[in-house]
Amino acid sequence: MRKQIAAANWKMNCTYQQAESLLDDILNNQISLRKHQQVIFAVPFPYLIMANSEVAEEENYFVAAQNCYNKPSGAYTGEVSAEMLQTIGIHHCIIGHSERREHFNESNTTLAEKVSICLENEITPIFCCGESLSVRDTGSQNDYVENQLKESLFHLSEVDIQRLVIAYEPIWAIGTGKTATTAQAQEMHAYLRSVLERKYGSLVADNMSILYGGSVKAGNAAELFACPDVDGGLVGGASLIAADFISIIKSLK
Ligand code: PEP
Repeated sequence: MRKQIAAANWKMNCTYQQAESLLDDILNNQISLRKHQQVIFAVPFPYLIMANSEVAEEENYFVAAQNCYNKPSGAYTGEVSAEMLQTIGIHHCIIGHSERREHFNESNTTLAEKVSICLENEITPIFCCGESLSVRDTGSQNDYVENQLKESLFHLSEVDIQRLVIAYEPIWAIGTGKTATTAQAQEMHAYLRSVLERKYGSLVADNMSILYGGSVKAGNAAELFACPDVDGGLVGGASLIAADFISIIKSLK
């Protein structure tokens, strides 16, 4: 069975102390994950080392950065490289979250570079894609998201593409409380898998985890994750409430 993943995206939230106690509250529950299940905490940069040491003893728990730069090193004040992440023991990084695409003008081309530099540094990109409401309103969401994949991922080899996790996050559902229906989520996930299959073949496509993101909550996670092509979730708001995120972890297939 391909990996089923509950990934928390804390965004720019929590003081250091709040971050520590949120992690403690979740980890103290000692939810034992099955072999194919993973939990990932994408925390702000200053908390990466602390969070990584908190999960160090926990099987199948990981810490992710929320972004990295698309250049290896140099005069880029304020940026963080994939190599820096790798040298502090981080092996996952969110790439192309819609908030970064929107507020920091990250293009598909830049994201292709970020994906590559992560892989060069043994970091698993959690690659986000998804359409805005105006795109969905015109019915062109499949083409739009397919193009995001093509422009940012299709330079990868058959081996490298399988080192990625994909997160489908319709922008209209992020932080809005408006979740995609299970039918909408399943339809897009199946479509994305078919896009991967056309390019890389069915073995590769079947092996890749595609997470759903967009107002996943304790109350809807089980239903969403039950969809055959939904392999868990990337969770923003609800990942900041220990009890809710615990319930979401327990909803994994
Ligand atoms: C996200 O930030 O990736 C996200 C899906 O947020 P939320 O769960 O709050 O909609």
